[in-house]
Amino acid sequence: MNPYPNLENQQIQHPLDSQNREQYVQPYPQQQSPILFTQMMHRNNANDCDFPADIICPYCQRMIQTHVQYKMGVYSWIVVFLLLVLFFPLFFLPFCFLECQDKEHKCPHCNKKVGYKQYRIV
Ligand SMILES: [Zn+2]
Repeated sequence: MNPYPNLENQQIQHPLDSQNREQYVQPYPQQQSPILFTQMMHRNNANDCDFPADIICPYCQRMIQTHVQYKMGVYSWIVVFLLLVLFFPLFFLPFCFLECQDKEHKCPHCNKKVGYKQYRIV
């Protein structure tokens, strides 16, 4: 006697077979939307910007104006060192002039770094 009598009559159907397969086909051809083009006109980082930049934050996807923090970079310290050697009384100038410092852009909402500009002598 057959211990598995129901097995012969069962049809094992793959989930993607027959009519089920049709629902995975996209009914409409993909079109290039004009919205995509306008989104690409906004920057998503603030690299090489001296001042707060209007960008779309790549982390929280909001339209933001970046918050700029000034930091003493490698070239800022080189200028300090050169002034110490060449003209001692003015060595502190790079600490006072923000133009002589690196700029780090941060998102005011998620507080993540979204851009950086390094101060360069040349
Ligand atoms: Zn953000």
